[in-house]
Amino acid sequence: ADRQFTLIRYPQKHQHVSLQAWDSADELLISHVEAALSEKPLTGPMLIFNDDFGALGCWFTQYNPIWISDSYIALRSLRENLILNNANPDVTADGAITSVVKSLTSVESLSINTPTAPDMILIKVPRTLALLEQQLIDIKRVATASTRIIAAGKVKNITKTVLGLFEKVLGKTTTSLAKKKSRLVFCQMDEKKAEVTSPYPTTWPCTLPTGQTVQLANLANVFSRQSLDIGARIMLPHMTVSSNDVVVDLGCGNGVLGLQALSMAPDCKVIFVDESFMAVESARLNVLNNFPDKIDQCEFIASNCLEALLERTERPAVTKVLCNPPFHQQNAITDHIAWQMFQDARDLLVRSGHLIVVGNRHLEYHIKLKRLFGGTNIIASDNKFVILGTAKR
Ligand code: SAM
Repeated sequence: ADRQFTLIRYPQKHQHVSLQAWDSADELLISHVEAALSEKPLTGPMLIFNDDFGALGCWFTQYNPIWISDSYIALRSLRENLILNNANPDVTADGAITSVVKSLTSVESLSINTPTAPDMILIKVPRTLALLEQQLIDIKRVATASTRIIAAGKVKNITKTVLGLFEKVLGKTTTSLAKKKSRLVFCQMDEKKAEVTSPYPTTWPCTLPTGQTVQLANLANVFSRQSLDIGARIMLPHMTVSSNDVVVDLGCGNGVLGLQALSMAPDCKVIFVDESFMAVESARLNVLNNFPDKIDQCEFIASNCLEALLERTERPAVTKVLCNPPFHQQNAITDHIAWQMFQDARDLLVRSGHLIVVGNRHLEYHIKLKRLFGGTNIIASDNKFVILGTAKR
């Protein structure tokens, strides 16, 4: 079928015009699904996992799919793209889409939200295999032997390990021939197969520079889910936080920087922010389990950089932003997120508030910070990492 859509990547203003909001794996999946549905129409719900920017959600609106993602940015992209293509979605106050497409975050229960067995499950193979593994384990609980399970990805990402996961968790798995460097995966669920127990969240102890040992839980898609990130390790002993600080842990992952803030300054407030719903939920679990009496001093927010806080009519009076920035977004390696994070931190901080950043030396964050803030100090450094502190003037 020939249909036309206008698709953007959210946030539109920061994307290079050459970047498409769909790829050849989406095209392959769409043409296969269209053919399959014209042979055998849909008899149960359609589920879509890991749609990068909402292209699949937009294409399949007529089937009212359940759309599952770990990414706040993907969800906002879907919303913008539905609007751009006149699909008029209903959106709740917390950003969930409830009509045309029903969105679920990766931390909402799939079985509770999928009351009848799905007929078709479409999966874009995610970059993190742990996320795929968790999703297959969730799918096992809702699918049946007659569910059509179809995954798609770049040939180079459909590895033996990926196919092995499908076989291990669900059942017999085959692939299509490659087309435009993409390929499909077909999986038939074996209902007799025993359920695989999820290894997530992974939990391990971490001794903070205050001497306090915390247990860090990490859901499947959390950055550095097996051990403490080296950047974070170097940052922790150099953080200074006092009790009247309002701290933002920006790109919080499991929330280790914010936990160190609570350990150093038990009365400070901490706002944990990440674009991964699993990261935000992991940070919440980690405060709940390690600082149960501090949970009311904390907020847990899914956002693209700090936009969710900047958009509020009453912005919090943030005095300190702690940041170990990411260096890729979806599948692209880029420094535009670090740039946006620093810019947002400058906009959100109160006067004389501080931004503290850790980064690999070669990323040269001091150049960006100097441009945005007018200056920056080296708090500490070794041969690989630099910790920079910058005050808002
Ligand atoms: N703070 C944790 C630590 O130090 O171990 C994690 C740091 S990790 C290098 C960067 C984090 O930024 C990841 O958790 C990632 O999900 C998050 N992130 C990536 N893009 C983002 C965005 N646009 N807005 C908010 N967070 C983002």
